[in-house]
Amino acid sequence: MTIEKLLIANRGEIALRIHRACHEMGIKTVAVHSTADSDAMHVRLADEAICIGPPAARDSYLNIPAIISAAEISGADAIHPGYGFLSENAQFAEIVEAHGLIFVGPKPEHIRTMGDKVEAKRTAGALGLPLVPGTDGAIEDIGEAKRIADEIGYPVLVKAAAGGGGRGMKVVPDEAQFETLMSQASAEAKAAFGDGTMYLEKYLGNPRHIEFQVFGDGNGNAIHLGERDCSLQRRHQKVLEEAPSPVISAAERERMGGIVAKAMADMGYRGAGTIEFLYEDGEFYFIEMNTRLQVEHPVTEMITGVDLVREQIRVAEGRPLSVAQDELVFSGHAIECRINAEDPETFMPSPGTVTAYHVPGGMHVRVDSGLYQGYRVPPYYDSMIGKLIVYGRTREGALMRLKRALEEYVIEGMKTTIPLHQKLIADTDVQNGDYTIKWLEEWLAKQS
Ligand code: ADP
Repeated sequence: MTIEKLLIANRGEIALRIHRACHEMGIKTVAVHSTADSDAMHVRLADEAICIGPPAARDSYLNIPAIISAAEISGADAIHPGYGFLSENAQFAEIVEAHGLIFVGPKPEHIRTMGDKVEAKRTAGALGLPLVPGTDGAIEDIGEAKRIADEIGYPVLVKAAAGGGGRGMKVVPDEAQFETLMSQASAEAKAAFGDGTMYLEKYLGNPRHIEFQVFGDGNGNAIHLGERDCSLQRRHQKVLEEAPSPVISAAERERMGGIVAKAMADMGYRGAGTIEFLYEDGEFYFIEMNTRLQVEHPVTEMITGVDLVREQIRVAEGRPLSVAQDELVFSGHAIECRINAEDPETFMPSPGTVTAYHVPGGMHVRVDSGLYQGYRVPPYYDSMIGKLIVYGRTREGALMRLKRALEEYVIEGMKTTIPLHQKLIADTDVQNGDYTIKWLEEWLAKQS
C-alpha cells in the first residue's frame, strides 16, 4: 500500500525531519500542533495543519483521540510518531492500526515487549544478545535479590522495569543500603511511571554507551547500520554523539552488527530500532532497545548515505529494505551536537524569542532545527532546539568542521549550549575519543 498523506504526530526538529522525507517521496503532510505551536516551522511547512489542543503535552501531543480525529478529518493514511511523545506507546500503535491507518513504526507487540525493560532483557537474552549480569527477571523476593547482588558483587544498580530517560535507577553501594535504596527507587518509579517493578544489574564502573542502528522489514529480513557512540552524557542524557565509535574496529562492528541484525531478523522486527549496549573492557552488555527513530539518527545517515525516515516509510508501506547488508558502506565520520535552550553552565532552561539567527552551512554541515528569526521557543516542551551534524572523511576532519560550524552558528535571544560544545570539543580527551559515560559529569565538575 502506498502512503499519499502522512500525519506527523510530533513537533520541533523531528516533525520537520519527517516532513522533509515525505516531500522528497511525493507524500503530502499533515502537521498537528498545540496552541503554543501555531507559529512553529513544522506547522508552516506542512501541507495542512490541525490544532489538537492546549500547550500541555498530555492535552495535545499525547492526546490520542485528538490525533486520530485529525488523521480522519484530513484523510491521512499513515501516522509517524517521531521520537518521544507517543512513539513507544504500543496502545497508540494498536489504535492507529485499528482505525485502518498505517503506523510508521514497529509492530505493537514489539513496542510493548521492549518497553518493559525486564521483558526486553529476557527477549534480548533469548535472541542471543549479551546481557549485563543481574536478576533474570523482576525482583520478587528481596532476600533472593540480595543473594544475587552478593554473587555479582557491589555496587549494583536497581532499575525500574518501566524506566526511561535515565530515570528510575539507583546505585546500591553495599548490602547495608540495599533495602532502603531499593524501596526508594521503587516508590519513585511507581510515582513516575505507575509501575514500581524493579530489577537488578551489575553496575559497570566505567563503560561507554554504544548503540547499534537496526532495521527490519517485518518479514524476517533485517540489517544493521553500524554503531553510534553516545558516551558523552549528563544525567544519563546524551549531549554529543558520533558514528562510528572511536573504539570499535571494523571487525568488531561486523561481528556485533551481525548478532543484532540476526536477532532482529529472528524476531521479525519491522522498521527502525536501536539496540543500546554498555561497552567495557572489550565486552558488550545489552541495556535496552528503543523501538523508534533516535534523536541521533543523522550521524548514521551521514556515514551510510541511507535516509532512515525514507526507509521507515518504505517498510511501513510493505516494501522491502532498499539496501542489503553487503551493499552498505560505512565511510567517514559524523558528529552531532544537541543544541538546547539552556544556560551552558547551570543547564537551567532558557526559552525566549530568537532575535537573530544564522545557521552554519558549507560542505558536510547539516542543521536540523525548527528555529527562525522571530520564533518564540515555548517553555512547555523539551529544551532541545536544534541539532548540528557534521561529516568528515576522518574523525579529525569532522572535529575541525564542527569547530568551524559552531563558530558560525548564531542564535540570539536566549542562552544555548553552543558554548558548552565549543569547550567540549577543545578538550584533548574528546579530541582523542578518550571518554566514557562518566567523563562529561567529571569534566563539568572541574569547570566550575
Ligand atoms: P533509560 O531507559 O532510562 O535511558 P538505560 O537502561 O538506557 O535507561 O540506561 C541509561 C543510562 O544509565 C546508560 O546510558 C548508562 O549511562 C547508565 N546505566 C544503565 N545501566 C547501567 C549499568 N548496569 N551500569 C552502569 N551504568 C548504567
